[in-house]
Parts: sequence; structure tokens; C-alpha cells
Amino acid sequence: MFSVASHLTARSAMNDDAVALNSKKSSKRRCKASRGASRTTIRAEKTKDGPSVCIAGVTGAVGQEFLRVLKQRNFPYSEMKMLASKRSAGMKIEFDGETYVTEELCAESFDGVDIALFSAGGSISKKFGPIAVEKGCFVVDNSSAFRMVEGVPLVIPEVNPEAMKGMKVGGKAAIIANPNCSTIIALMATTAIQRKVGIERMVVSTYQAASGAGALAMAELKQQTKELVNDGEIKTKEIFPWGYAFNLFSHNAPMTENGYNEEEMKMVKETKKIWNTTDISIAATCIRVPVMRAHAESINLTLKNELSEADARKIIGEFPGVSLIDDRANNRFPMPTDASDQDDCYVGRIRRDISQKNNKGLELFVVGDQIRKGAAQNAVQIAELLLK
Ligand code: NAP
Repeated sequence: MFSVASHLTARSAMNDDAVALNSKKSSKRRCKASRGASRTTIRAEKTKDGPSVCIAGVTGAVGQEFLRVLKQRNFPYSEMKMLASKRSAGMKIEFDGETYVTEELCAESFDGVDIALFSAGGSISKKFGPIAVEKGCFVVDNSSAFRMVEGVPLVIPEVNPEAMKGMKVGGKAAIIANPNCSTIIALMATTAIQRKVGIERMVVSTYQAASGAGALAMAELKQQTKELVNDGEIKTKEIFPWGYAFNLFSHNAPMTENGYNEEEMKMVKETKKIWNTTDISIAATCIRVPVMRAHAESINLTLKNELSEADARKIIGEFPGVSLIDDRANNRFPMPTDASDQDDCYVGRIRRDISQKNNKGLELFVVGDQIRKGAAQNAVQIAELLLK
């Protein structure tokens, strides 16, 4: 039977018990928060009328989360197929009371499949995404391969569902791109403000978790932490060239010519595409921090029109998929542990920026589980829109 722990051991030289991807404990965790409006979810069991679904990259951090999210949201499906690399072919995976055998992803994998959830990396998406579409399969892609391609919808269901208007299982197949996780989390916190008064400038600083770099990075952080605590030094450096435990560093995405790295530029470009505007200035600094799961972001806004702090708090809190943790009296604001394994993004520290004139400067802090809302959950929500 598939276990991430044994699989990671097979995938790398790491001798760790790896990541606790199957922990149910945290999903029961509830923090004190005012809930936003509830989301639309489709409720159904395995059904003959449901679409045939496959997961490309099922053994990865996002792939494993797909399984949990599909089950938790009771996504309707008639058939389910588990795909990964050759290395994982033959591995058994339990899902919804049935045992599936993982298959090596190939062109034929998409025969008869209605919806493919892709999380096997950009090169696999580029190669097999178009093949899947050719075979009549909708592709919901988690990589950056197609995000900025004209005509490919880049969708956060709470923010711009209209971008995939008319797309429906049974109709003409297409690729739909899932935005970058940091972009999703930032726009969950700020779209209400953009809609209400417009945003002239957005400056984001991120604090990104190990989970954003995949299952192996999570395992490495855990391993290094053990080594530091037990032996006083880091011995394992396989994913990042420097120590990750008790450290932080500029995001590992490749650097671009303008001095921003690709993760930072994704936030700039994707935000404009999702909000369908070029009339905004955006800059980001993305940092990897030794948090296991859930990204945090500090966001500074210059607004086009005035908005009081109270009104900002009200409209952010009412946005679907957002909860507030903004308790100044107790100095209690969102933390990654609040968001881990949770559907919602949590926003707090909502305050006027005292360095900006009038009521046009606003600061806030957001955390979101980027494997979940930043990847698997957002993709499954997109798949739900394909069924409406
Ligand atoms: P991961 O934990 O490293 O998992 C990678 C997955 O891809 C594994 O299932 C792996 O299968 C599979 N794979 C690798 N090479 C393959 C091949 N040649 N053929 C078929 N399958 C192959 O990575 P991840 O974090 O889940 O990320 C996966 C994708 O989602 C990436 O494109 C990433 O950018 C994107 N994404 C990740 C996050 C996040 O928070 N982690 C957020 C948004 C988007 P094996 O186990 O067989 O090698």
C-alpha cells in the first residue's frame, strides 16, 4: 500500500519518516474566527453519472492533497485513475474505500477521462496537457506551464469564475490553469478591496512554507531539524544547497534579469491576468521560511479611493473562503498553524498604513494552506465549475 514515507525513502537518500501528509489531527483544529460567506460545494458520492477523473502526480504533495480534497468535498466521479512516474507504477493507493494501482503516466492514460488534475511538474503538463485535451479531457493544471498563455483561463473560483464561462464537461475540452499558490492567497485577501475601491499599488512580502517546494522539501526540513536538535549540525542537504532548518532564504525560484525571482514575477503577472487589469503596480519579495505547511504574506496597499479600516475589515471578512483573525486586544493574528489543513485563508492585522495620506493606505496579513487553497482545493473547485 502506498505510503508517502516509504515512497520518499525510495525517491531520495533521505532516511526520514518523511511528511505527515495523512495527519487528520489538524483538520479538526478550529481557531476562533469569524467565517466568511460559505462556498458552493457539490455533494455526491461515487456515481455512474459522475465524470471519469485522473490525477497526474498522485504520489506528490499536491497529488495526495487532491485525494483528501476530492473525498472531503464529495466530488462526484464514476472512475478514478492514479498516475505518476514510472518509479511509482504498481504502487497501491487507497481512496474512498477502494484500492487503486498507480500507473505510469503516458498518452493513453487520458483515454476516456473527462477531467485530469495535473500536479506532476511543468514539463509533464506541457507534454501531456495538450494530448489529454486532444482526447476530450479537461485539464486542470497546477504547474506554471500554461498560466500566462493567452486563451487559457487562470482561475480562482471565488475571484474570476467568469473566465471559464461556457466550459463544461461534455463540451469542448480545454486546459484551465491553477494560479501560483502565493497569488491565490494574496488575491483571496485583497479581491474584496479591489472590487470595492480599486487598488493602485500592491507590495507583498511572503513567508513561504516547505510544502510549497513539494513532499521532498518537507521531508528535508524535518530531517534537518532532527539533525540540528540531536547532533548540532545539518548533514542532509539534498533539496536546497543551504540549511533550511532554523533559517530562511530568498525563494528558490530562478532569478530573472530585473532582480526579481520567478515566484515574485508570477505574482505580478498572474494578478493582472486574474483581475483582468493592467492598471495596477505590483512588487513582491518572496522568502522561504522553515514552516512545514501554509504560506503567510504581508500586503501593503495603496487604494484608488478611500476606504475606512472598519469597512475594509467588513468586506474582507465577508469574502467567500476568507476568515478573520484580527484580535488586537490579545495580539492574536493569523498563523500558518491556523491555516494548515484548512479550506479558508485567514486575514488579520488590517490597519491603515500610517505612512500614506488620507484613507488610501492599507496593511494586512494573510495565511493560507498553499497545498490546499493554493493548489489542490482550488483545482477541485475549478473541476466543480466544470460540472455546473
Ligand atoms: P512533488 O511532491 O515533488 O510531487 C511530484 C509528482 O509528480 C509526483 O507524484 C511524481 O511522481 C510526479 N512526477 C514526477 N515526474 C514524473 C513523470 N516523469 N511522469 C509522471 N509523473 C511524474 O511536487 P508537488 O509539490 O506535489 O508539486 C507538483 C506540481 O504542482 C508542480 O508543478 C508544482 O509547481 C505545482 N504546485 C505545487 C504547490 C505546492 O504547494 N506544493 C502549489 C501549487 C502548485 P513520482 O512520485 O513517481 O516521482
